[in-house]
This record gives sequence, C-alpha cells and structure tokens, in this order.
Amino acid sequence: MKPLVEILPDKCTNCFTCVRICPVKAIRAVPNGLSPEININRCIGCGACVDSCAPNAIEYRSSIEEAKNILKLNKEVAAIVSTGIAAEFDDITDYRKFVQMIKSLGIAHVYELSFGADLIAMKYLNLFSDFKGRYYITSFDPVVVNYIEKYHPNLINNLTPFISPKIAMAKVIHKKHGDKAKIIYIGSNIADKDEILLYNDDGKIDCMIIFPELRKLFKEFNIDENIVDYSDFDAPLGFKGSLYPLRNGLIQAADIDENLLTTHVISVEGKTAMLESIREFENNVKVIHRHLHVTYGNALSGPGITSRGNKLLKEHLIIKYANKRIKNFFRAEWYNDLDEYGSLDFKRSYKANDQRLPPPPKEKIEEALQILGKKDDDYSNCQQCGYSTCEEFAVDMAKGIVVPEMCHAYAVRNTKNYDESLKELNEKITKTRKALQESEEKVRSEHDSAHQAQELTNAILDNLRAGIVVVDYQLKIVKANNTFSRILGEEAREINEVIPGLVGADLKKLFSPEIYNLFSFVITNSEPIDTRDVIHNDSLLNLSIFPIVENQLAGGIVRDMKAPEVQRAEVIKRVSEVIDKNLEMVQQIGFLMGEGASDIEKMLNSVIKFYEQDKPK
Ligand code: SF4
Ligand code: SF4
Repeated sequence: MKPLVEILPDKCTNCFTCVRICPVKAIRAVPNGLSPEININRCIGCGACVDSCAPNAIEYRSSIEEAKNILKLNKEVAAIVSTGIAAEFDDITDYRKFVQMIKSLGIAHVYELSFGADLIAMKYLNLFSDFKGRYYITSFDPVVVNYIEKYHPNLINNLTPFISPKIAMAKVIHKKHGDKAKIIYIGSNIADKDEILLYNDDGKIDCMIIFPELRKLFKEFNIDENIVDYSDFDAPLGFKGSLYPLRNGLIQAADIDENLLTTHVISVEGKTAMLESIREFENNVKVIHRHLHVTYGNALSGPGITSRGNKLLKEHLIIKYANKRIKNFFRAEWYNDLDEYGSLDFKRSYKANDQRLPPPPKEKIEEALQILGKKDDDYSNCQQCGYSTCEEFAVDMAKGIVVPEMCHAYAVRNTKNYDESLKELNEKITKTRKALQESEEKVRSEHDSAHQAQELTNAILDNLRAGIVVVDYQLKIVKANNTFSRILGEEAREINEVIPGLVGADLKKLFSPEIYNLFSFVITNSEPIDTRDVIHNDSLLNLSIFPIVENQLAGGIVRDMKAPEVQRAEVIKRVSEVIDKNLEMVQQIGFLMGEGASDIEKMLNSVIKFYEQDKPK
C-alpha cells in the first residue's frame, strides 16, 4: 500500500515550505536541489504538508478506486458519515439529500458517525468521573494518538483507553449486519485512512474516503442533489455526538462539566496548541490536575475538506445541522440504542513507537553554525526559516533535517556571492572578447604583412638569375623559383605552370642521385656545401646548398654555368680567386723575373676589366 502522503519530485519546486511546516520534522530537506523526503515512520498524518505545497507536489493516498471496487463487488455496503459533511456540502439545502446521494453510489445503509461519538463520549464521562488519580489525554483524534506514540511515548498510558467514534460505529454496524458487511467511512481527517488499517475484527472499516473524494465519485456517477429524493440515516441515530468535529464537541456530547472553576478537563485545538499542551501535560500534569481534550483540528480545515478557511462559518453550519437533527430526536430510542450497543467492547491499547531523534553532538551543531556564518554574538534569530532561533535551526541541520539554503541570511549571502561571481565572470568575458578582437586584428594585419612579404620574396626570388630551391627531409620541394624550373628544363617548366613553385615535387625525380644526395647530406649533417659543379643532363650546374632547419629543411642555389651572365661573373670571380690565391707566388715570380711579372699581373687585370665592362647594367 502506498504511504499516506508522498512527494511528487516532478512537481516539486524545492521551496522547503513542507519541511518548515511539518510539526514533527518528518520531512527532510535534501541538498543539491533534490526534492525533500518524507520519513513516513515519523509522520503523524496531519496533512499540513499537503495543504502547504503550492504546486500540489504532495499527494495523499487516494481511496477512490478501493471504494469503487467495494461497491462493485458487494451489495451489503454501509457508510459511516461524519457530521463534517454539513460543513462540506453547505450548498445542499437538506441533509436528507446527501444521504440519498450517498445511497445512489450503491451504498445500502448510511449511518451517522454521531452515534459512535455518543458512545465514546459516555465512556469519557465515566472515566473522568472516576479517574482514580490518573489524568488522561483523549484519544479520538488519530493525529494526537500518533503524536503521543511517536514523540511522547511516556504518555501512552495517559491516553484514554477507548477506540475512536468511527471504530465504535463500525462495531455497531457489524453487530447489526454481521462481520461480512463492508463499511466505507466518509470523513475529513486524512489520518483516519491509516487508523482504520489497525482494526481487522468487529471494528473493521474497509475503506475511508475524504470529502473531496466523495465529490469526485458523485461527479463520476453523475449524482446531483436535483435528481435524488430525500432519504434519512439508518438507525441508530446520534444525539449530541453531532458536535464531534468541534473542538469541545465530544465533551459537550458527554455533558462533561466545562465550568472553568470546577472542570477537570481542558480542551485545546490546533497544531501549536497540540504540541505545547502535550509537552506541558508531560511536565506539569501533577500541578495542573486536569484531563486534556486535544485535537490537531484539521477536520474542518485540512486536505480532507474541499474548501479551506471560513472556520467559524463551518462551525456554525455544524451547530445548525446538529440542532436540526436534535429537533426530531427521540430520546427513548436513543437510550434503547445505548443499551443495545453500549456493552460492546470499546477498549483499546497503545504501542510506543519512539521516533525521537537523539540530540546531535555539540561539535556538529558548532559546525552547522559555522557553515551558516553565525558568530557567538551574532544570532539574528530572524525566524524566516520557521525556527525560533538560529541555534534550533543549527541543531536540526546537525540532525540532517534542514539544509543551510533554508537559512535566509545564508541564502542572501550566497546569492550575493553568486551575483559577484557572475559580475566578475561577465567582466572577464568582456575583456576576453576585446582581447580576442585585438588579436584577430593583429593576426589579420600580420597576415597581410606576411602576405606582402611573401609576394615580395616571391618577386625577388623569381627575378634572381640563380635558381633557388628549398627541400624538406624527404627531398620534397617546399619552394622553388622560376629560374630553378627553367634551369631544370622543359618538363620542370611545364610542372611549374600547373603547380607554381613546384611545391611537393620530388627532387629525386628531377635530379640524378649524385645531385640529390648532396641535399640529403646537408639536411642530415647540417653542413653547407659551397659552389659544387655538377653535370645535369647536358648542363654544367654550380650548386651551393645550406641547411635551413636542422634535419628538416635545406636550401639550394643553382646556377647554370652556360648562361652568359653566369659565365662572365664566374670568369671574373674565378680569375679574382686565381689572382688572390697566387698573388704571393706572382710577387715572388716578379721578384725573381723582374718587370716581366708585373706585366702578367697587368694582363690578368685587363682580362677582368674586359669582362666587367661587358657586364649587363
Ligand atoms: S512544499 Fe511542495 S514544492 Fe515545496 S519543497 Fe515541499 S514538496 Fe516541494
Ligand atoms: S502529514 Fe503532517 S506529519 Fe506527515 S509529513 Fe506531512 S506535515 Fe509531516
């Protein structure tokens, strides 16, 4: 069976309202943006979380299908109806209409809860009249019973030892119709959905539906006030037990003395009143000397009733209804019924189910306060977290019930930090974008300059009379000028037209091994080769090879020695070398041969002059 209440993570917006509102901290906030978790063992079934959740992410267990199944499979179905129906169906003019509407669902017998309330009220009267020194807490509200069993287990022996009015009424019905009769309870307290599961004997109720579920069934079966006749409740009818949904309704039903000067009973209602009065009862009952009649008070304002608010109006409607019922009341019959059913066993016992959490170690609380940024004298105690003090919040943080994000100051500080980080990040992005633009401009301008330089270099290279070639370690041409392809011959010139610069051409296919091995040598050894004459096809070439990048690139200057301009320059160069190299020897010859030697020098110089004059300008 599904738990009484559960969170639907898809709908949850992580607002933590449910964590703050749960009176017993059965809902634990989960860090990292996950939905809170309900610990159903700690839950007391008050329904406050269901009502508090704005996006309707908390659901109670629906019993509609269960009710429909019971109606489908059984003819002898009885309903017990809480007086709260008068507050729910304020639009229905006569209660006899909604009795018939309920019967129209296929329910054979409709009983008032109020007779069961009368029976239990009598029990309270007897107990309080002869209580033998033990003070009691009334046990008609399952939320209160759950709370005591789980959070004040020391008080279970102070709970009135009686079943609730609905179970008492179920016993009456089973006595009347036999154990096999199926019973559906219609009320407004969602905790009743779990309470009925405790009984499997003659107090068994098979299903409990709350008023909004009853409305859904009416809608589904097209049941409307205008299409049904009047019908009355089945006997036994109730008396002042009709006041049961009101704070002191059961006390009044039992005619228990409520005079403040003489009464032995204090009646309280509401979440805070329940929590505080039970705590006080535990601590101070020896002084107070009163019984506690207490209810959580969600019967007229919880998820079990369709419209919230207007509590006074709802109380008025119940009192009006009770008066109407009492007008046609036959006291003699009621006494007979009390005689007939008053001897049923209405006793019950309780079982401690301690769900109190042990106090966390001091260091954990201090650690929590530190995370929250609370210093010794700096507790704002703003209460926006739902706790009275920062320290109480830190205690629950240490217990793992709340997370720091629920602290307003912490959240604001973190939002500030987040905002600042965001601002810094934005500034960084702006700076980066600007730097990127500048660097793009720089790259573009450098690219333009490089392009211009490249074009200039190409123009210079192409106009050189020497062939220039650059090759990589695989002897693939990286760059060659036009003169290089011209020197190599027709085939190389044609390739150069298709692939300018002979880029990627294999030097090994253009030169003989004798030549390309010279390039390999320079690349491998990083040693230049200066002016080496080689034969290529029918040409005499002069090569100078030099390393550019060690083991990677080498450059070559190739001159065709048959080209006229090369021939002249070469003759000049080489004659100059002869003169330089042999000057000393010539001088010695001159010294030995006298004037004749200077004539030889003059002759050689005149050769140089001749060639220089003929040099193209
Ligand atoms: S109140 Fe609803 S939306 Fe908010 S945390 Fe709880 S389940 Fe989620
Ligand atoms: S039903 Fe009540 S006790 Fe249970 S989780 Fe919701 S608020 Fe807490």
